[in-house]
Amino acid sequence: MNERNDTSHMKILEKIAGIAASERNDYLMQAKKSGKKVIGFFCSYVPEEIIHAAGFIPYRMRAVASSGTEKGDIYFSSLNCTFVRHCFDKALKGDFDFLDGIVFLNGCDHTRRLYDNWRHADIPPEFRYMFVAPHKVGTTAEKRFSGEIEVFKKELERYFNVTISDETLAASIKLYNRRRELLQSIYEAGKSKEVPLRGSEFLRLMLALTAMPVEDSIALLEEFKGEIQGRSTARPGDLRIFLASGCVEEPGHLELIEELGASIVANNICLGTRNFDLAVSEDDEPVPSLAKRYLYHLSCPRMMNTSRERLAYMQDTCREFQVDAIIAEKLKFCDLWGGELFLYRKESRKLGIPLLALERELYGGSSGQMRTRIQAFYEQVRNRKSTADDLFCAAGDDYQAGGKN
Ligand code: SF4
Repeated sequence: MNERNDTSHMKILEKIAGIAASERNDYLMQAKKSGKKVIGFFCSYVPEEIIHAAGFIPYRMRAVASSGTEKGDIYFSSLNCTFVRHCFDKALKGDFDFLDGIVFLNGCDHTRRLYDNWRHADIPPEFRYMFVAPHKVGTTAEKRFSGEIEVFKKELERYFNVTISDETLAASIKLYNRRRELLQSIYEAGKSKEVPLRGSEFLRLMLALTAMPVEDSIALLEEFKGEIQGRSTARPGDLRIFLASGCVEEPGHLELIEELGASIVANNICLGTRNFDLAVSEDDEPVPSLAKRYLYHLSCPRMMNTSRERLAYMQDTCREFQVDAIIAEKLKFCDLWGGELFLYRKESRKLGIPLLALERELYGGSSGQMRTRIQAFYEQVRNRKSTADDLFCAAGDDYQAGGKN
């Protein structure tokens, strides 16, 4: 890579890091100044296209730059996960005062409580909507999801006095599909030995893109794709990691995983593949097509009858991306990911892929203990690579080489 390219891709990475680092950014604030409304939403099951077709900017809720949970803990118990506690803390501090509306989702019982507490504390914005997505896939669920989208669409039209036509919706679908296509191609570049983009950089990219107008995000991605072509981040001896997790939004945490001697080349995380793995059909009616896409995209454990598909995705991805090991994480008190880790552990044994399960707190810092566990795991994986021993590790347990735990 020549010096000029090196400087220009560093520039764009710095720009993305700047956008990702705070809850608001220049693109968003500029759009606000020009009169655009911004609607926050939780979770990858809310169809952004509907919000966009109403003329608004969908904004993926996050807790970046959170300084603690002291205020949030007045409403949430310490048995709630730190994602919701940090988000609510920020809400109480007025960090989301740029939002014109907010859409909650029945992702899990913890996120559901966000809706109750937001209303109870009467935190702006006034438009607070609970989008109820099915917890199962199937034809009944498709109809149910379509119905929910229709109700959501009508409510946006009524409250904001706007019209969402099939034409504007089709145009929004096209834009979001373009963003998915670009993201998919950047993600797939991770299959190469060169690893043009590290996992921590990919997370920053996702944080940035989901907090700005989609039109700007497409322009940024097109530029970005060109800049990283031919880039290599691979270091000799780096392990190739598949990361499975729910609410992870700290690039610093992924940097820790990588700086100890690995690249996160593939993932199934909230701010990852689930956002772009499936396009919306542009040939059929918009609302049922949206329902299909949002119901059948790569799922998370909130979905009750798709664990087989998630494990198959993990298996196929590990093969295609030549993954050496899996890191599967959960936040403390997250039951959904707790159950998922059990399934991952069983599956990784079957496949003979080493797995490290971690339990952590959002913005909990990179504890020395976490560092030591990851380091020791990598050492064992490397030994295993040379000895072909089995290696498995469970959350809270010590991993074992050459045996089962
Ligand atoms: S980390 Fe788990 S408990 Fe917390 S919001 Fe996500 S799915 Fe719910």
